Amino acid sequence: MRCPACSQVIQPDRTGKCPLCGFPARELNRKVTTIYATTSAIFFSTLVYALLVYLMRTAHTAQPTPVANTMFWLAIGLSVADGVAMLVVNNITVKAALCEVPAILGLCVFFLSGEVAEFVALLGISVALFVLLAAKIPSYINQIEQKAIQEWQQQQPEDRSW
Ligand SMILES: [Zn+2]
Repeated sequence: MRCPACSQVIQPDRTGKCPLCGFPARELNRKVTTIYATTSAIFFSTLVYALLVYLMRTAHTAQPTPVANTMFWLAIGLSVADGVAMLVVNNITVKAALCEVPAILGLCVFFLSGEVAEFVALLGISVALFVLLAAKIPSYINQIEQKAIQEWQQQQPEDRSW
């Protein structure tokens, strides 16, 4: 792996530290891997809803009603608010969970109306939010690395700085 502190390709020692500079590289690496694993898991769970609707599209026989129609537009409104909340929130796992919300609402609307197109519209909002999130992940990871390096440098004994 590459040590984020000294930018060298290294093999962490027994304690997970960089043998060149002493930065706890393995711990940070684990943290980054967890972020990728969690966000991917949330994304794939969203695809499960799509599969569910695909399998149920003929078996589920609900009829479009005025109530179902109101619920659809309510779901669209909530999804837009959800998208705004996602841009404001800082935690990446919370962001990913918020990306999933429109698809969940879409599933509820589908159960009410039986309209696959309404689910697809809401799923589309989810996918768009996930695309936005995916574009942000590299800079988010970079932020985490910089913060970890900074904290580590502050913990170093004074004589290391000169
Ligand atoms: Zn290093």
